[in-house]
Amino acid sequence: MSKVHVFNAGPCLLPQEVLDGATEAIREFAGTGVSLLSISHRTKEWENIMEQTRQLWKELLKIPQDYEVVFLSSGASMEFLYVAMNYLEKKAAYLDTGVWANKALKEAKGLGEVECVASSKDRNYSYIPKGYTIPSDADYFHITTNNTIYGTEIHEDLDSPVPLIADMSSDIMSRPVDVSKYTMIYGGAQKNVGTAGCTFAIIKKDSLGKVSRYLPTMLDLRVHIDKESMFNTPPVFSIYVMYLTLKWIKAQGGVEVIHERNKIKAASLYAEIDRNSLFTGTAAVEDRSLMNVCFVMAPGYESLQDEFMSYAKAAGMVGIKGHRSVGGFRASIYNASTQEDVDALIDCMRKFEELHK
Ligand SMILES: *Cc1c(COP(=O)(O)O)cnc(C)c1O
Repeated sequence: MSKVHVFNAGPCLLPQEVLDGATEAIREFAGTGVSLLSISHRTKEWENIMEQTRQLWKELLKIPQDYEVVFLSSGASMEFLYVAMNYLEKKAAYLDTGVWANKALKEAKGLGEVECVASSKDRNYSYIPKGYTIPSDADYFHITTNNTIYGTEIHEDLDSPVPLIADMSSDIMSRPVDVSKYTMIYGGAQKNVGTAGCTFAIIKKDSLGKVSRYLPTMLDLRVHIDKESMFNTPPVFSIYVMYLTLKWIKAQGGVEVIHERNKIKAASLYAEIDRNSLFTGTAAVEDRSLMNVCFVMAPGYESLQDEFMSYAKAAGMVGIKGHRSVGGFRASIYNASTQEDVDALIDCMRKFEELHK
């Protein structure tokens, strides 16, 4: 197979070191003679990995002392429910910035009053709403920091008068975050910190225990904090891939270094989209995501869409088809994608333009 450049939106590309480490551990885990896939999660070798993984989270994101990190076997979609179950007593506020934000909001609706403070649905979620008011009587305000499907991103840690809860599935570990501004940060592992099968949640410990409803054991975040994410059998493989991915981020120099790289990668691709007469970006310039770069054929060139898809595929580009709700193309350039990958796509766009001049 000739060289490919993977731009999948999730599960994402992972660094070679992570793939090698995971392969090795499947053969034999930590000198135990046992495969990672058969290891007992009650061994000290595994408990050590759990502890190190938590420590890496804390170190990389400078998580304050009064927070804990838990790993849950599920998806971010399940965490939408965790949020509402554990925090919604009377009323919650949500910012509607796309499909995922909306799904999060929908889960809360069954459990209390939900106010949608602002929405960018009017222009197919191509921008981040601004200038809205967060109701001061809400139990929490929920945001989706990166809108994977539409390629928009909230680049700053917002100030909120009520506890701030963020789905950071697709931009976690892509930039430094001021964790102290959030009550809970959560997401699925498969966009930037590993593979599917587990999720993470960074939780301010004293924020829990304030709802009056009955919480089933597995849905009670306090249980997972108390049991150090091992109330039941944890998704050992996914957590191990997360551990290796975090170690890789640390070896790169941490999230600050990663962020600088991400900015350069994204800027180079957006520059080509803006320069190239055949293509146009879909997201408002100031809200453009560093992770998911969405673009379509420029007006007058729409008929070339399928041809570019084939052309790019033949040049080794994988996963650049846009989500059906936006159309066109989406290049997901998470932490593990390299400038070389991005340059290959840029080169492809340039050559395609040459062909059609
Ligand atoms: C992918 C994604 C989800 C859903 O994740 P699952 O793990 O598939 O449930 C939720 N939110 C955002 C922002 C995503 O990108």
